[in-house]
Amino acid sequence: MRYLIISDLHSNLESLRAALEYRDYDAALVLGDIVGYGANPNEVAEIVRHLGPALIVRGNHDRVAAGLDQGELFSQAAYLAAMWTRRVLTLENRCWLEQLPRGPADLDGLLTIAHGSPLDEDEYLFDPTEAKPQFGAFSTPICFVGHTHIPAIFALGRDGELVFEQPRASESFDLDLGRYRFLINPGSVGQPRDGDPRGSFAVYDTAKSRIEFHRYPYDIEAAQRKIMDAGLPPFLARRLAAGR
Ligand code: ZN
Repeated sequence: MRYLIISDLHSNLESLRAALEYRDYDAALVLGDIVGYGANPNEVAEIVRHLGPALIVRGNHDRVAAGLDQGELFSQAAYLAAMWTRRVLTLENRCWLEQLPRGPADLDGLLTIAHGSPLDEDEYLFDPTEAKPQFGAFSTPICFVGHTHIPAIFALGRDGELVFEQPRASESFDLDLGRYRFLINPGSVGQPRDGDPRGSFAVYDTAKSRIEFHRYPYDIEAAQRKIMDAGLPPFLARRLAAGR
């Protein structure tokens, strides 16, 4: 099986469409934050629903947009975008977001997905010290996480050693599942933050035990224009071009 792993789509229709031009996969895994920040929450939610992911979890922005949470901890730009999203969502899409499962979620003992971390759906995993305690919170060989919008691999060896990799564009890694367990972040479709403005996703090939990191160009200007036209904070448009 080849799993397409997408995270932090953030209502960015242009980027999601460009990502899905990639067809070499059997099933999709969606790590949450389908909406928030961008200008096309309904269109993005509908594409994800039709994709029929093998596994999906909610993100913090999905919770606030669905009204499950009030977004007290959000930055002002994130809060304004979440309230705008809540207003424009169709009832059907809002109900769909509301019922998305909280992570972590496990697929047949093969892999786990979570939005922030397996311990806490709102936790950011940026560095090895944050990642290490997470390995006790899932039982599969691999757990995929999102939320930071930065591609990463954390590998915990049988001897307790933790290896940290920041994958470059189009880089693949053979995963030694006999010696390591993995926490892997595919980066963000809708709002990359590692300085590369291109969209980001990963593909996990179970037959080869290989993870591939993909970057792809998309029409950033169109996504920015829609954010401005919707009256969303201009910062949310600017950061798409910077990839920060
Ligand atoms: Zn996010």
